[in-house]
Amino acid sequence: MKDKPRVGVFKFSSCDGCQATFFDLPSLWGYLDFKYWLLGKSKNELEVLDIAFVEGSVSTQEEAEFIREIREKARLLVTIGACATSGGIQALRNFGRLEELSSVYPEPEFIKVLERSTPISEHVKVDYEIYGCPINPHVLENFVKAFLHDRRPEIPSYPLCMECKLRGNICVMDAYRIPCLGPVVRAGCGALCPSVGRGCYGCFGPCKGANVESLVSWFEQMGMSRKDVIKLFENENAYSEAFRKVLEGKVG
Ligand code: SF4
Ligand code: SF4
Repeated sequence: MKDKPRVGVFKFSSCDGCQATFFDLPSLWGYLDFKYWLLGKSKNELEVLDIAFVEGSVSTQEEAEFIREIREKARLLVTIGACATSGGIQALRNFGRLEELSSVYPEPEFIKVLERSTPISEHVKVDYEIYGCPINPHVLENFVKAFLHDRRPEIPSYPLCMECKLRGNICVMDAYRIPCLGPVVRAGCGALCPSVGRGCYGCFGPCKGANVESLVSWFEQMGMSRKDVIKLFENENAYSEAFRKVLEGKVG
């Protein structure tokens, strides 16, 4: 095994839930040299890194500048979670007008944000994306182990339905007519919701080749209203390329 990789864990607009996943993996700590991780240690310096793990979306000018600085220092840049890969909940504001939305604050002139909150890949080159809200610790662990052993990391890109069927679940959509985003959502959570009889909410974002048009037409055949279909896609991955077209009225 090679020397301990120099690692940075960075937070942008987010809730900290994804970077907190490192706390779930103490067995990895001895194999990584954390150079920068505000949540995990008190002495932090931005220096040359082997891997920068980035959580959160870019919402302010300072964040837009900082992510470019990180990119210059990092050999690999890996986004972790829905905020970093798709924009997260805060990107829902991209579907409205900033002036109108900020009018809910008593002093809106104090709000200094960019017009849109955007995924990291809109700003810099991203080498790998780990999906989820929050990410699954096993996927993160596998990623780090693959890096340590010079293997290609395996990040699921197939639909959740595969994971769901492997668990032997009864399909909630087929059997009970409960709407489920599983056919267009990336596996990785272990099919948590369908395993307890609920439809998938889409935390892991669109799978590779997601056929959103087909699923929306299936929902319509089930008798769902346009408003309810949009609500289903109004999640932390709403601003992903595949899902945003539903909210923009380009599908259905
Ligand atoms: S993806 Fe979800 S868990 Fe991760 S930082 Fe964003 S809101 Fe938090
Ligand atoms: S319950 Fe959802 S995820 Fe599971 S097979 Fe049916 S559509 Fe797919």
